Amino acid sequence: MPSDATDKCFLCGSTENLTRDHIPPKGLFPKPRPSNLYTVPCCEPCNNGASKEDEYFRVAASCLINAHPTGKASFERVVESTLPSRRIAKQIAKLRDNVEPVTLRTPDGDIEARRHLFDASMICRVLVRITKGFLAASHPELDTSNLDFEITHIDQFRTNSLAESGIPEHFTQWGAGNGVYEQYRAASAEDYGRGMMVHVFYGAAVWMVRYQSGTGLMTSSQHPGWSESAPGSPADIKNSLNKCKS
Ligand SMILES: [Zn+2]
Repeated sequence: MPSDATDKCFLCGSTENLTRDHIPPKGLFPKPRPSNLYTVPCCEPCNNGASKEDEYFRVAASCLINAHPTGKASFERVVESTLPSRRIAKQIAKLRDNVEPVTLRTPDGDIEARRHLFDASMICRVLVRITKGFLAASHPELDTSNLDFEITHIDQFRTNSLAESGIPEHFTQWGAGNGVYEQYRAASAEDYGRGMMVHVFYGAAVWMVRYQSGTGLMTSSQHPGWSESAPGSPADIKNSLNKCKS
């Protein structure tokens, strides 16, 4: 697609081989894809590098929640319809090798869950890229290369912190794809480069990304094991994973 001479890649700043990248990545959405996604200029090397990470992210985010009704439904609706089954099996195999059982203490008693040891840096990169994409779409003049990003996974099974935080009431909300993606954001009125974006995928996988000017650092408060996640018996988990193997 042709681009303006003033356009530059929202990730590396290159002005060559530009394409338009969808934010959030369109592969996250089943067809027909929502028409309200943003597009930002992105160079081909950055764009190609992103698609593998997006694939991992899609499977990882939905596995985080596959014992959750919303997650289960979205796995079938989104992942199975956007990835060839061979690719899903490969990603699932990678995730299965990195799951261990864990007991969660909740106000309702102990529940069986599992701990995913995700490739956190890959997940962080996807979240930072999505955050930068939204910033580039709304503030093209902002240089995001020097921003620091801090990523926190919000475990909805451990706390109701998103609901209790007041974020849904007080932040600006945006969403796409009937619950596939929801966002809550707030930024400083004086400095667009300082704020917070909460990304909610499939109604249950939630990450908070804070950003402010700095030196381009990316930090995560839960590195490298992401979270204790969806409750479910080991048999349930095995079944839902096996389903993808065929
Ligand atoms: Zn680039």
